[in-house]
Amino acid sequence: MNEKGLWKKGRKLTIAIQKSGRLSEKSLTLLAEAGIGLSNGSRKLVSHSSDFPLEALYLRDDDIPQYVFDGVADVGMVGENVVAEKAREVETVERLGFARCRLSLAVPRSVDYAGPSWFAGKRIATSYPRILQKYLNEQNITAEIHEISGSVEISPGIGLADSIFDIVSSGSTLISNGLKETEVVMHSEAVLIARPGLEPVKQEILDKLLFRLRAVMRSRNNKYILLNAPNEKIGEISRILPGIKSPTVMPLADPGWSSLHSVLSESEFWEVIDQLKKHGAQGILVIPIEKMIV
Ligand code: ATP
Ligand code: ZN
Repeated sequence: MNEKGLWKKGRKLTIAIQKSGRLSEKSLTLLAEAGIGLSNGSRKLVSHSSDFPLEALYLRDDDIPQYVFDGVADVGMVGENVVAEKAREVETVERLGFARCRLSLAVPRSVDYAGPSWFAGKRIATSYPRILQKYLNEQNITAEIHEISGSVEISPGIGLADSIFDIVSSGSTLISNGLKETEVVMHSEAVLIARPGLEPVKQEILDKLLFRLRAVMRSRNNKYILLNAPNEKIGEISRILPGIKSPTVMPLADPGWSSLHSVLSESEFWEVIDQLKKHGAQGILVIPIEKMIV
């Protein structure tokens, strides 16, 4: 059934999105690039998309796993750290590639740190007690966990704790609070979670949504590349260009030269460009891809 058909039957998927915070804008941008327009949640609790059978609920990120588990929302966009901490039975259906961070233990800079056993008997302040407790159990360490909801990084400075367990992205907050990161416990990024056992009509909408999101994310990670090469170098250059299949080769007006077109992933980009230049490629153009369907 196409989207209009699903729409007419009055069926839609409800997605939970962070109302206001680090995930909000990127969640809405990802949906918008997938052709699903939603209004910003800063003033509303709910909004409907006019171009896809989807409605958005704007919530605090901490509530998203519970709402998805309860069925108030069918799916949600939230950090893996929150999914792990809330430990609700929800399914992670896709990693979304934004809001990357890590959850780490940090101690005052002056500490002579030799390993995780340092934390034995210490007071650790955190907003993520469950993830921390699991780590301590795995390490066979007994420590005192102090759960606090914000500004965890200031607690050693004011004598509330000996150390902290918190989100780190650049590390500058730790440094400005006289702390140093000593153990990375978890890496996190935004993910799409879903309630297990969605009704078939909702699953069908979710599959369409995933198809679009994957096309957008793939395009973000890839670039279209065009270059000119002398004909005798086409073989070598084609082997350097990974591409989805083999590159497209088109003759130029200048005999003896061809134009090659292919797709390059962001991660191998600079390496491949260097190789191409070494093998005689000229006039290299790199263009963003809007959508990529494979
Ligand atoms: P809410 O009001 O919705 O509860 P919040 O203050 O708990 O918001 P934000 O600070 O907006 O949450 O962060 C949301 C998510 O963004 C985090 O749970 C984490 O997954 C991710 N994130 C990425 N980088 C960072 C960072 N440097 N600091 C905090 N969170 C980050
Ligand atoms: Zn929160």
